[in-house]
Amino acid sequence: MANQDEFFKKVVAHAKEYGFIFPSSEIYDGLAAVYDYGQLGVELKNNIKQYWWKAMVQMHENIVGLDSAIFMHPRIWKASGHVDAFNDPLIDNKDSKKRYRADVLIEDHIAKIEEKIEKEVEKAHKRFGESFDRQQFVTTNQRVLEHQQKIDAIRARFAECMNANDLEGLKQMIIDLEIVCPISGTRNWTDVRQFNLMFATKMGSVIDDSDTLYLRPETAQGIFVNFLNVQKSGRMKVPFGIAQIGKAFRNEIVARQFIFRMREFEQMEMQFFVRPGTELEWFKHWKEERMQWHQALGIPAECYRFHDHEKLAHYANAATDIEFRFPFGFKELEGIHSRTDFDLSRHSEFSGKKLQYFDPELNESYTPYVIETSIGVDRMFLAVFSHALKEETIEDGSTRTVLSLPTRLAPYKAAVLPLVKKDGLPEKAREIQHLLMPEMMVQYDEKDAIGRRYRRQDAIGTPFCITVDNDTLSDNAVTVRHRDTMQQERVSIDNLNQYIKSRI
Ligand code: ATP
Repeated sequence: MANQDEFFKKVVAHAKEYGFIFPSSEIYDGLAAVYDYGQLGVELKNNIKQYWWKAMVQMHENIVGLDSAIFMHPRIWKASGHVDAFNDPLIDNKDSKKRYRADVLIEDHIAKIEEKIEKEVEKAHKRFGESFDRQQFVTTNQRVLEHQQKIDAIRARFAECMNANDLEGLKQMIIDLEIVCPISGTRNWTDVRQFNLMFATKMGSVIDDSDTLYLRPETAQGIFVNFLNVQKSGRMKVPFGIAQIGKAFRNEIVARQFIFRMREFEQMEMQFFVRPGTELEWFKHWKEERMQWHQALGIPAECYRFHDHEKLAHYANAATDIEFRFPFGFKELEGIHSRTDFDLSRHSEFSGKKLQYFDPELNESYTPYVIETSIGVDRMFLAVFSHALKEETIEDGSTRTVLSLPTRLAPYKAAVLPLVKKDGLPEKAREIQHLLMPEMMVQYDEKDAIGRRYRRQDAIGTPFCITVDNDTLSDNAVTVRHRDTMQQERVSIDNLNQYIKSRI
């Protein structure tokens, strides 16, 4: 755990030092759980959004985009259930005066038992060596089975409490599991209370209760209320989807994990409208497709896992999370939910407008069912960024910090570096920079020895360093150095653009 904490601190420090992420309002001592993206952060973030948009909208003829407003009619949040039920259970420790989410305390407790299982697995792996069969071990080893039984029992009891909104039951669980406050180390807990996560604000100059607006806590409702607009104007046929990227706001109770849990964040959501009765097939389809999207980035499959929900929201008939191995353990990165016809029906009821679809093949009208895929841009950022950050010892014994970002997400694709600051090399390097600029993000750097310049580019994840040397002037070729392997290749300037693009 100490190592993980240390590593996570490095992630946060690296993000700041190189201009990826700054605490918001830093010169005023910051604002809790709000962050600004710096000059490199905004590039990485935009690339993540583009990668998602391309995969979801450009590559599906039956999915279209939307950019709906953050402010929406307040009745929308009544209809969606957010005013009455968008709550988290909170609990305070009376000694440390720290506030926690009761459900997260229980999840962390489960994670600790999971760690014990992992330790058993590691030990056995060492003992059995090559012939070790993980699956067989975890299904037969007595100690592992006991741990697993404990986890299953906790999960079942937890689901029961959450489904019944049993706050006393949750508190009893925390007491029975002997969960202590990580700060004070005591079990002196308050009762569990519900806390609504929506930020309220006022619209217009006349202030009374009816003017209360909410900053949207998810982008999905903007999609539902535009269902008919998009379907009719785009002549969309079920099954079809609407995708949106935008800001969302939640007054999170505890926000201590950098950009994992923010009060202002960005979501990439897609609502897929299907015929009633086909939703579970589509749910399965989107589960697989979304996992493929993640794995196509080249991050190893063992960093991801599905976590099917035991506790389903009242409107859902299936739900799963794609979890990622963050520096602080496996946590939700994306949610995939089968939301039935709940949202469209509720908005029909509350608005008095019929939100239905006439299916020409069936010759009947119905309220479509919905599969949702919902991922936080910032969590995705943290996933790729933390996975990419490495310290390596290289051949000459020195260490280097390298940010092995997936090439397509890297802020700069290439850096152009004249070997020396004379003999016409800077001019040639500038020429190459301008040649590549219309096609990709390129940096020019002539300061310091070449080795230090390579290190700087490694640290910000630039996949290709292009070195211009004296031979360049005669052979019209450059040396391309690869970030991850540090191998170098001679490439003709005429092919350079194509060479890099084919590798992104
Ligand atoms: P959690 O259980 O971690 O609070 P959630 O289940 O409430 O998350 P959803 O409502 O399903 O999350 O939101 C969809 C996605 O939006 C999440 O998978 C996550 O990537 C992102 N997200 C949600 N809340 C935050 C937040 N406070 N900061 C950053 N990203 C968030």
